[in-house]
Amino acid sequence: MNSIVTRFAPSPTGNLHLGGIRTALINYIIVQQAKDKLPNSKFYLRIEDTDKERSKEEYTKDILAGLDWLNINYDSDPQIQSSNIKRHQQIAKKLLENKKAFKCICSNEILDKKRELNKKNKINNKKLCETCENDAKVQSTHNDYTVRIKVPTEGVNKFTDIIQGEISVNNKEIDNFILLRKNGTPTYMLSVVVDDFDMGVNFIIRGDDHLNNVFRQNLIYKAMEWEVPQYAHIPLIHGNDGKKLSKRHGAISINDFRNEGYLKESIINNLILLGWSPNKIEKNEFIQIDEIIKSFDISKISKSSSIFSYEKLNFFNNHYIKNKDNSNDLIKYCENNKNLNIFIKNDKDKFIKIFEVKNYRHHCHYI
Ligand code: GLU
Repeated sequence: MNSIVTRFAPSPTGNLHLGGIRTALINYIIVQQAKDKLPNSKFYLRIEDTDKERSKEEYTKDILAGLDWLNINYDSDPQIQSSNIKRHQQIAKKLLENKKAFKCICSNEILDKKRELNKKNKINNKKLCETCENDAKVQSTHNDYTVRIKVPTEGVNKFTDIIQGEISVNNKEIDNFILLRKNGTPTYMLSVVVDDFDMGVNFIIRGDDHLNNVFRQNLIYKAMEWEVPQYAHIPLIHGNDGKKLSKRHGAISINDFRNEGYLKESIINNLILLGWSPNKIEKNEFIQIDEIIKSFDISKISKSSSIFSYEKLNFFNNHYIKNKDNSNDLIKYCENNKNLNIFIKNDKDKFIKIFEVKNYRHHCHYI
């Protein structure tokens, strides 16, 4: 390998929140580390906007602004997935020609019935269409078909994830999923593989909610005789009640954290320590981006989900605000905090003086 190429591939169907930032941050760090020895290494951003109904321009803006604020810098302009649809369709056609995919004309009603029947009879058969593949008439139709991947009936589909270890599943448990819909649009499963291949991505780092997609995506890589990338699936972040991160826990836009007066140093320090810790860490856990790039080891990320808490974030923010040379960040933080802004409103000058006394003491300490 003469370079490491990673990407962050958010769908602009919502704001950029902590989970996304953590994924982007780790992709960024890995490439910064690699650039030392492999200077051609790249970190790309791809906006996956193929779900036209749910994708919104405002979310794309939110994603770009958040990455920009945190200095998570990517190489080249962001790639927009929907501009590549023709290429995705071309690959689906190639897979059909090479008999790695087949046409399916089953209607939704037929597939739903099959699903119900399987459920009722407790049949664990993931291949909903079993007839079209071997029906010569169906394979020669020109209209109204979906394109499905062919899945080997035998054998095991295996890969080693840098965080999750070795994972395998029997091919018979993989569905012959759709590559192209009846209206000719590509599915996520196809687009993501084609784009990753075209961009030269050889290391995929993303949330472990995508772990099960690897089996399917690797089938496409293999069918195209493309080299399968390395994978690292990061456990998701949960709130301190153990539940999936929601608005209440901090799954708000990263830009809201900025508006509330949180510093980027605090966000990065907090996020990187979720599920990982450096060997040598100061007792107080403060670590900034340059130091993180020196010591981060992706293979040491814990397999279990990690907990985000505001308490911890406030602890870091308190530290970084205190260490600033002037009180601007403190004022901003307090102005946006409904409990603290009363003090600012009452006597801003006093507030600033208190900060300066602290700073004065801080400096004396080093004299
Ligand atoms: N667009 C997908 C998402 O936002 C991520 C795709 C991927 O990383 O493979 O969940």
